[in-house]
Amino acid sequence: MDRRSRRVVLLAHCILNQNAVVEPLARRPGALEGIARLCLEAGVGLLQLPCPELIERGAGRAPDERSGYDTPAQRALCRRLLEPVRVQVAAYREAGYEIVGLIGIGHSPSCGVHTTHERGGAIPGRGVFMEALLALLPELEGRVLEVPRRYAEDPEVTRRFEEELRALCPERGGQHGA
Ligand code: SF4
Repeated sequence: MDRRSRRVVLLAHCILNQNAVVEPLARRPGALEGIARLCLEAGVGLLQLPCPELIERGAGRAPDERSGYDTPAQRALCRRLLEPVRVQVAAYREAGYEIVGLIGIGHSPSCGVHTTHERGGAIPGRGVFMEALLALLPELEGRVLEVPRRYAEDPEVTRRFEEELRALCPERGGQHGA
């Protein structure tokens, strides 16, 4: 019996590994457990994206803004990192799997999908890495969420985001197009 759900969600790296985050911004010692738990309960597989900032600047890097990462070298790095992701997504699609969506990180200069970081604060816009990813996989537009800055710290923000996540990743048997 094939137990695979054939449903996969793409996650920003630090959702499952807060060790990658710029030091003062980590919200948990390891993973953001609430997000991982909801995805597991929904029966979706977790495809963890690489962390472009860790790879470029290391674990002890200082915070920076979108403009600091919006360079030809960083864009080239993002394209290189995303090639294996593109290949994996193509393999899943070829086999009839559903890519249920993409979860980024609000306010991030790299992984924001609706908000990014510039001029000392959050602004509407997309991080450099997610911009490159969605240029590669434009069919994911409309199925993207971002973890709000106050997730796991403010109970109301956490509750609202988890509701959005349940809608993106309904429990097995729910309907989403691929
Ligand atoms: S670059 Fe992306 S994955 Fe890495 S710590 Fe920042 S938000 Fe998380």
